Amino acid sequence: MNNITAKRPTFVTHLECGLEGDSYPADQLHGLSKAGKPLVVRYDLPAIKAAVTKEELASRPADMWRYREFLPVRQATNIVSLGETVTPLIPVPKLQAGTGQLWVKDEGRLPTGSFKARGICMAISMAKELGVTKVAMPTNGNAGAALAAYATRGGIESYVFCPDDTPEINVREIAAQGAKVWKVNGLINDCGRIVGEGKEAMNWFDISTLKEPYRIEGKKTMGLELADQFDWKLPDVIMYPTGGGTGLIGMWKAFQELKEIGWITDPLPRMVAVQATGCAPIVKAYDAGEEHAPLWENAHTVASGIRVPAAIGDFLILRAVRASGGFATAVTDDAILAAQQEAATSEGVLLCPEGAATLAAYQQELTSGRINANESVVLFNCATGLKYPMPEVTQTLDCTQPVDYSRL
Ligand SMILES: *Cc1c(COP(=O)(O)O)cnc(C)c1O
Repeated sequence: MNNITAKRPTFVTHLECGLEGDSYPADQLHGLSKAGKPLVVRYDLPAIKAAVTKEELASRPADMWRYREFLPVRQATNIVSLGETVTPLIPVPKLQAGTGQLWVKDEGRLPTGSFKARGICMAISMAKELGVTKVAMPTNGNAGAALAAYATRGGIESYVFCPDDTPEINVREIAAQGAKVWKVNGLINDCGRIVGEGKEAMNWFDISTLKEPYRIEGKKTMGLELADQFDWKLPDVIMYPTGGGTGLIGMWKAFQELKEIGWITDPLPRMVAVQATGCAPIVKAYDAGEEHAPLWENAHTVASGIRVPAAIGDFLILRAVRASGGFATAVTDDAILAAQQEAATSEGVLLCPEGAATLAAYQQELTSGRINANESVVLFNCATGLKYPMPEVTQTLDCTQPVDYSRL
């Protein structure tokens, strides 16, 4: 961590209820606001502008902490890091429809193989700064894996609850990295209830999606990083596989902050929330013109990371999507699996199912006309495709017999 100096200015002024806007002091442990909604972190943006330049940022090591002035950790010694590297933007011209360029932002390169590392790295660093010693969360897999790794790294005890059909590799990586993990015969919201109701008996801190203020700040680095990578002129459209929506909310927050300090002057990207047709509460609310998204019954999809039947930040997702001129859309599991295969066989890019959902949505919305073939588009691949099932291989070769090469 040679890039992080022990003494550095930090710029957090206070926290704010995302719905009501009432204010909460910084440097204290907070969960939800009084209204039971997510808290968002506010900064002295003019002071950030005066303290750092784009050029200075660019000269720092290529990791998430390059943006430290925009982040909440006060003491560098509290940073719990596993190497949160800048992730590549991979052009995928064979998947592109027209003249508008198409990229995959490959978040699978992060520690624990998913972008959950960004949010959990920040949440655990802040938990450490604020004296937390025990944390708990519900997860569909990747968040729990990141929590296990970062909590262990930071000397914090962790408890993780996952639906019993969570991919086995996720359950195992959670256990392997030092968390206590249970498979629960329900969905993520049932697991969330166990965490919430266990607070008194277990005295743990609930680190569920958006139930503490700092995961958004970690995910915000995706927006800062994109702006930086695109030389502060963002692409036309960002397609984001949306579960709890932390990343979409975080990126939109990053863009607002950058706009406010004048580092971005061009129009902001249209934010597209992508869900699966088997679990599409945000899409339903978007289509109905609602500000909140009621629980989606019988949620199912192969893209387990976006199987979130109820999102506590629903209104923040919907506001960002609408304010950006974007939209919300759902794709079928068949389309997700076909897109996954297409990206792998045409471009050598192994997407996770959630990432593949954004490609399927891109294709679907080119047809519908909601995306234009001359628009530049970024697809988010949120986790390494290696964590997910792949098609079986059945071909064998007998090395004791002559090989008929004409049949290969
Ligand atoms: C968590 C997760 C998502 C959804 O991210 P949110 O920011 O919570 O909406 C998408 N894809 C994968 C692979 C995930 O692990």
